[in-house]
This record gives sequence, C-alpha cells and structure tokens, in this order.
Amino acid sequence: MDTTRPGVPRVRFAPSPTGYFHVGSARTALFNWLFARQTGGTFVLRIEDTDEERNREDWVAGILSAMTWLHMDPDEGPYRQSGRRDEHHAAVDSLWASGSLYACDCTREAVEARTAGNATPGYDGHCRTRGIERGPGRALRFAVPDEGTVVVHDIVRGDVEFPLASIEDFVVVKSSGQPLFLLANTVDDIAMGITHVIRGEDLLPSTPKGMLIWRALEGDGVALPAFAHLPMLVNEQRKKLSKRRDPVSVESYREQGFLPEAFLNYLALLGWSHPSGRELLAVDELVTAFRLEDVNHSPAFFDVQKLTHLNGEYVRAMDVDAFVDACRPWTSGPGAPWPAERFDEGTFRELAPLVQERVDTLGAVPDMVDFVFLAEPRMDEAAWASVAADPLAATVLDGALGAYATCSWDAGTLHQVTAALAEQVGRKLGKAQAPVRVAVTGRRVGPPLFESMAVLGRAATLQRLQAARDRLGAVAGSEELPGGAGPGVGEAGALPGGAGAGAAVDQA
Ligand code: GLU
Ligand code: ZN
Repeated sequence: MDTTRPGVPRVRFAPSPTGYFHVGSARTALFNWLFARQTGGTFVLRIEDTDEERNREDWVAGILSAMTWLHMDPDEGPYRQSGRRDEHHAAVDSLWASGSLYACDCTREAVEARTAGNATPGYDGHCRTRGIERGPGRALRFAVPDEGTVVVHDIVRGDVEFPLASIEDFVVVKSSGQPLFLLANTVDDIAMGITHVIRGEDLLPSTPKGMLIWRALEGDGVALPAFAHLPMLVNEQRKKLSKRRDPVSVESYREQGFLPEAFLNYLALLGWSHPSGRELLAVDELVTAFRLEDVNHSPAFFDVQKLTHLNGEYVRAMDVDAFVDACRPWTSGPGAPWPAERFDEGTFRELAPLVQERVDTLGAVPDMVDFVFLAEPRMDEAAWASVAADPLAATVLDGALGAYATCSWDAGTLHQVTAALAEQVGRKLGKAQAPVRVAVTGRRVGPPLFESMAVLGRAATLQRLQAARDRLGAVAGSEELPGGAGPGVGEAGALPGGAGAGAAVDQA
C-alpha cells in the first residue's frame, strides 16, 4: 500500500516555459504557495526547460516576473531542470540496470502498421522480449507490468484507478538519447523531496506512469507524494480556456491594470471557496482558510467580469496615495496618452478619489483624466453628435461661457451657477450640463463635472466651451444652407446673447 511521504511539506511549481504565463499556471502556483504558507512547508520553483525546441528564455523571464508581481516568492529555486541532465541520465542508467527499461528501434510507421486493428491503442510491446542493446537511434521504453492497477490517491478527486493493461510501454528516453519530460519530472520530484504534487488535471493521465518510474527507482514500498490535481479552467461556453480564443496570459491582465492582490484573490476562487461564501479575501485570510481537501474537482469558470468587478473593489479600497502610486505606469509611463511635461501628479491626486470610484482597472484611468492633461479634450464623436443634435446646446454653452467668466472658481460655486442656468433653460441639472461636460472633457461620462472643471481651471474651461460653441455654430450654419433657418439655429438665435444669460446666472 502507498504511504504518503512524512515530514514537513515540500511542494513545487514546475512550469514549462513554452508560452506566455497562463492564468491556469498562476492558479496552480498559488495553490502550491498557499499550501506551503499554511503548513509551514517549502515552496520550490522548478523551471522545466528541457524541451529545447519549445522553450524560450523570455518565457522563463515572464514566469519569474509574474511570480514576483503576485508576491509568490519561492523558498527554493528557481531550479532549472536543464541543469540536472546528469541526474536524469543516471536515473536512466539505473532503470536500465534494474531491467525496468528496454530498447526499441521500431519506427512510428512500423508500430502503426502492426497495431492498426488493435482494440487498445499505443505501442504493442514488440521489442520487449527482443533483448536489443541500447544505443544511438533507439528509444528506451518502460516495461509496464501487464496485470494489476495503479491507484492515484488524489486529494481533490479521491482514488483514481488505472488498470496497467491500459498503459502502454511508454517512452522514457527518445531515440535521440534525450530523456522525456516524465522521467525528468519524476527524478526531480524524488531528488527535491517533494511530498505533495499539486498541479493541473491535464497531468492526471500521466501520473500512474510517473508513479511506476518512482517505484522502479526507489523501491515498491517507497512512500509516494500525495497528489492533488486541480480542476481545469473553462470559459463562458464551458470550453477549456484556449490561448487563441481567450485572454489567458497573466501579463495581459497586469497590463490592463489589474492589481496583484485582487488577481491573486480571484485566482484562489478558481476551484476553491471560503466556507463563509465570502469572496473578497486578503492574502492572509486565504493562507488561513485555504484547504486542499476543499478544492472542487469540477471545471472552474474563469469569469473576466467577476475578476474585473473584484478588482474594482480593491481599487476603491486603496488609500489615495497608494492609488496614485499604482497608477504611475499609466499616468507617467511612456504609454500615457498625454505628453509627459503636461502631466502633474498633484493635479491628478486631486481628482484621484473621484476616479477611484469610477474605474475597475488602472488601465481605465487615463480615459477619465486625459481632459486635464491634454491641450485639447479627445472628443468622442458620438458624444459630440448628441450635443450637435441638442436644440438647447448653444444656449447652454453661451450661458455657461457668460456665467463661468466671472464666478468664483470652485466646485460648489460652479454647481450653483450651473443649476441656475439649468433652471433658466427649463432642464434638470444632469441634462443641462451634458453639453458642458462634452465640451470640456470630450466625453459623456467621467468624474463629477464641477470638480473636474475646478481642477482644469477657468481659462482652459472657457476656451473649450468657446471652441465647442464655435463648432456648434459652424454646424448650425451649414444646416441653414439648404432650407433657411433651421429650428436649432432659430432657438439658439432667439435667446439673448451669452452676456445676457451670464448676467442672469450671476444674479442667481
Ligand atoms: N512542466 C510540466 C507542465 O508544465 C509538468 C508540471 C508538473 O508536474 O507540475 O505541464
Ligand atoms: Zn519496438
């Protein structure tokens, strides 16, 4: 019977650097890390980089930087599997010497031709009794016993039985002489004293093979690690997350301005939940409450909307200084949409509390405040079209130009003055201020208008209102051409000039 390895837990995260660091890998890393933190165990990072054709150094760098970003620092490592080739070859020699392996010189075509009609797919054991020597051009296969079962005691899935008859004599060393992943993976787990193998369920089918290698190397009675195969991540259509269809790289979330604490919190909910049902969980709470036994085996929906919402909660909970700091890559970095010399962090800080209430990700911040740091607002043409179609827009803009020219410049006064203007034109404040907002910020939505104008300053505000008024005049003028004075022009023209409206507001 299997016994589980005793002692203080040692877990490992063993990614292969064959692509961008995937959210599923980050979840695997996190569950290992949480388990190590809560048991006082050791979290080992091992980069499985032996597949030279598929590895890239920048993907290794991506793994390391994502781990740092998420504060999942390893206690040991990063080890490089490629640095342990001698150990892998030594293990192959020992398996060969003990008769666990045999050499095979079958071509793929020959195997396929022989096994075409077979009920069980895979290699047919052809070379097992041929007794050929190992050597160049010959693969080494593991002689899997024909009878019996391997039982994986899985913490998440319970006992999973694999009849040995269903496992082919798998290749351990390629005909090129290179040991395969399964061999290196097992040899390293043995050497690193791994007690718990926590990884994605895509690796469950290869687990019995790893167990066979482990026992062949260490003896039948050896204590194997405990296994925990984590549920796969699926998208909204309940399909496995795919690199092509879904945004899966951790880096892309970082670039969009997700916070590491929020991202980590969300990853923890992919296959696990707090007994109380609470979802907003600080990392310390995760460490205390997480239980590997409570991980669910059914697929976990990677819900970007939920992640975004959770991130918004973290953004709102930040104190202003932390928020301003965290925004720097978007406000002061090369990707900021304004010239660096026009940005002023003090001004941004004034708006920051208003912005925090309105964004879910830091990447959404520049759109909220760019009107302050650009010489001209970036005009959203749909927003402008709504102003152009509004028969009272010219009146409102004229009124605002008049009133704002002389009133004192603070949010409270601007509010009062604009409310009076609204009353004058017979509109609710929200509707009346719409043309002003579009003129000043270029958008229909954004931080509160009066605070925004207070920060922007009188001169820039008036200049933008005038530019919008001029543009409106030009539109109205061109509409006039075909059919004489249109209703828009008539309404605007029928009212007293800007000065008159301004004076009326001033009296309010
Ligand atoms: N390096 C392999 C992978 O990333 C194996 C990982 C493991 O055993 O945890 O799929
Ligand atoms: Zn063969």
